[in-house]
Amino acid sequence: MSTLITNIGELVTNALGPVGAEAARTGPGGFTALSDAALVIDDGRIAWTGQTGHAPAADERVDAAGRVVMPGFVDSHAHLIFAGERGDEFAARMAGVPYSAGGIRSTVAATRAASDAELGANLRRLAGEMLAQGITTFECKSGYGLSVADEARSVALATEITPEVTYLGAHVVPPEFESDPAGYVDLVCGPMLKACAPHSRWVDVFCERGAFDADQARAVLAAGRAAGLEPRLHANQLGHGPGVQVAVEAGAASADHCTYLSDADVDALAASETVATLLPGVEFSTRQPYPDARRLLDARVTVAIATDCNPGSCFTSSMAFCVALAVREMRMTTREAIWAATAGGARALRREDVGHLGLGAAADLVMLNAPSHAYLAYRPGVPLVASVWRAGHLAWQA
Ligand SMILES: [Zn+2]
Repeated sequence: MSTLITNIGELVTNALGPVGAEAARTGPGGFTALSDAALVIDDGRIAWTGQTGHAPAADERVDAAGRVVMPGFVDSHAHLIFAGERGDEFAARMAGVPYSAGGIRSTVAATRAASDAELGANLRRLAGEMLAQGITTFECKSGYGLSVADEARSVALATEITPEVTYLGAHVVPPEFESDPAGYVDLVCGPMLKACAPHSRWVDVFCERGAFDADQARAVLAAGRAAGLEPRLHANQLGHGPGVQVAVEAGAASADHCTYLSDADVDALAASETVATLLPGVEFSTRQPYPDARRLLDARVTVAIATDCNPGSCFTSSMAFCVALAVREMRMTTREAIWAATAGGARALRREDVGHLGLGAAADLVMLNAPSHAYLAYRPGVPLVASVWRAGHLAWQA
């Protein structure tokens, strides 16, 4: 079954050079777009892209009526397995109370008290919100259970909904280990890891003052790697620190936040394969200074944008909102921001099949009620998503 989507006003492909088999092998290239374009989906994959006038025939034909078609957003950083909410904490913060990592503990208490059914329902609700806003691939972290059983059920629930599951037992030290953080790190590297590794692809640590230091982070990443997991890291969110250096040293796929960076941190990222994942919704919701995206881009660091959807520091599931913040507040161009939210996210998840619409890529795409990708930042807060396709099938429609 093949589908031709024709009359596309702007087709964002992020494909490398001329679209061909090469694109599928090497993953996304830079931002690329065609006007007056068409694409063909065959067997869930992109089979052809080009000018409307040259489009081949297909079994089914969809008229895009001049709209944008772009790759589905790839959200490489989200915390979706939790119970409860922290709206009061947000209101207090806006009234002047500073953010600290400790707020996570209130979500831990609610998560431990919730049933599997409640956690699963909340997870599916948030995944549905994401899909309706054009996110077709997302990562999901544990980290609100912080006991062997609660972390294990968190990652098990997450695997039902995404292959990009991250074990984040090292989110914060839970209250019962307050006086024995080393004992908690041993648990995270030992029995908890053993219970979670079969359901996880990634291992992550919140490396920050008030959470885990560099040596603890190194120990967790090394144990995770020995169990077959690939590293990624929360780094340099609340202040300068060793996080980025630990991430690069460990060969992490991504260092996430990168709000406070030294010149050495930027140099280390630029010389590595580690993606700098920026989470501007967090700075918006915690009223902190935004990361310096221009400094990273000018140093040729690969930059991704993700939502960090979580109940504490940033409760948005809207990648379009994050794109608008990246453009308005972090001085990224609209092209850079769209690339970072699609192909950049794919790089941060080491995925070559998503984040672009090159030949052979997954037919995960979004149609926007807009003539240009720039509308995602130009019309902030407006629901522009007309339809969302996953693996060549219409998955959501306005
Ligand atoms: Zn996070």
